[in-house]
Amino acid sequence: MQKNIVIIGAGITGCSLAHFLANTGWDVTLLESQDDIASGGSGNPVAAIYPKFMLNDKAYNDFMLKSFMFTTAWIDKLGLNKDDYRFDGAIEILEEAYSHKLEINFSSGSVDQEKILISIDKPILKKYLMNQDLSGLLFHRGGWVNPIALCRHLVNHSNIKVLTNQKIISIEKLNNEWTLKTKNQKIFKSDHVAICNAAYLHQFDLTQHLHTDAFRGQINWVNSTPFQMPSIVICDEGYVAPLMQNKHIFGATYGMNDFNKDLRLSDTKKNIASIKKIHREFHNYCLAQKTISGRVSWRASTKDRKPYVGRVFNNELFKKMRVRELAQTDQLPWLDNLYVASGFGSRGFTFAPYCTFVLANLINKKLSKDDKGTLNYTNPERYRLKKMSLKKAASRIFKV
Ligand SMILES: Cc1cc2nc3c(=O)[nH]c(=O)nc-3n(C[C@H](O)[C@H](O)[C@H](O)COP(=O)(O)OP(=O)(O)OC[C@H]3O[C@@H](n4cnc5c(N)ncnc54)[C@H](O)[C@@H]3O)c2cc1C
Repeated sequence: MQKNIVIIGAGITGCSLAHFLANTGWDVTLLESQDDIASGGSGNPVAAIYPKFMLNDKAYNDFMLKSFMFTTAWIDKLGLNKDDYRFDGAIEILEEAYSHKLEINFSSGSVDQEKILISIDKPILKKYLMNQDLSGLLFHRGGWVNPIALCRHLVNHSNIKVLTNQKIISIEKLNNEWTLKTKNQKIFKSDHVAICNAAYLHQFDLTQHLHTDAFRGQINWVNSTPFQMPSIVICDEGYVAPLMQNKHIFGATYGMNDFNKDLRLSDTKKNIASIKKIHREFHNYCLAQKTISGRVSWRASTKDRKPYVGRVFNNELFKKMRVRELAQTDQLPWLDNLYVASGFGSRGFTFAPYCTFVLANLINKKLSKDDKGTLNYTNPERYRLKKMSLKKAASRIFKV
């Protein structure tokens, strides 16, 4: 097998896939449309990492927990600068009834709950400077990472060539090779291709059916405060991160399919309001500032909040196949050597490293039973199959 691959998009998804493949002997060309890596959703000064569970969705919670455990252990071993990540806890403030239900829901699983989370009580609130009567959960191994430092670290490998200012506009198979064209008519050829371009996945003919919504998000920060601030990430409606790169970062807003690139004062106000319960003095201090810095970027979310990770169908073959043929999951019309990883929503730094590890195993034809389960869950073609009443087939593309 020729081990060369072109990856489109150099956010956390493209950079971590490049890393896993380079470490298994692949020559990777990583193409980015902007003038630097980590310029999209992955370019914020901080990303919080903690498991965000949902009530009554065991499959999602299992996937979340698996991703969280994998990613935190993996980042710990990467050799990142110690100032660029920390996993010494994260608190999520929740209504007491919700937090209790979530605990019960979670504890029905096979993992020892106490090792992952505990309900916050008065001593915990005091330790993390929240003197009000709040309820919620403390995730022991939650924390944060510096996204740009992480992406840079991942692509610093002799097998990875990063090329910026390369906006890919088309992908087609010519003479048995994937041929990618840029906006400036430059051509890249490769045996394998992976599309990791977040909310732009639908721009290519081969993947135009893979819908994502772009959610605009604004974060803000102030450079110093006269107060002692919490030493761990605290999330309520918004979050406050501990001091990093001399910034106290807080946010973030959500705006569906809103493509305004400018910082908005109304969003800054929303962000300030969202941290009132976390730290009232800090909230008041932010309100009194004349200007507050910030950044705007976009999340790519799927309708069911599950990312698209895996292969896609050959559209020509798919159109010709009958429903009963498609129900035989070993006959699905997959395109050879083309992969996608996108739609990580607001949890890219928890999901993307784990999912690209699994995707690299698929590309290397070394899938474990667990990997197969994950790819069944993230099957990018699930919507097309479900539309044909092939719900079971959609989640059983691999036998486990
Ligand atoms: C305000 C905000 C706060 C967030 N906070 C957190 C958080 O605390 N924790 C967390 O886990 N997640 C957080 N997220 C979500 C997280 O940032 C994303 O899930 C993650 O960055 C997605 O990574 P990605 O690599 O898939 O996409 P991106 O980082 O957006 O990377 C995609 C890249 O593809 C490039 N590209 C697009 N089209 C092309 C093309 N045609 N050719 C070449 N290149 C192309 C883009 O320029 C971009 O660099 C937040 C997101 C936002 C917006």
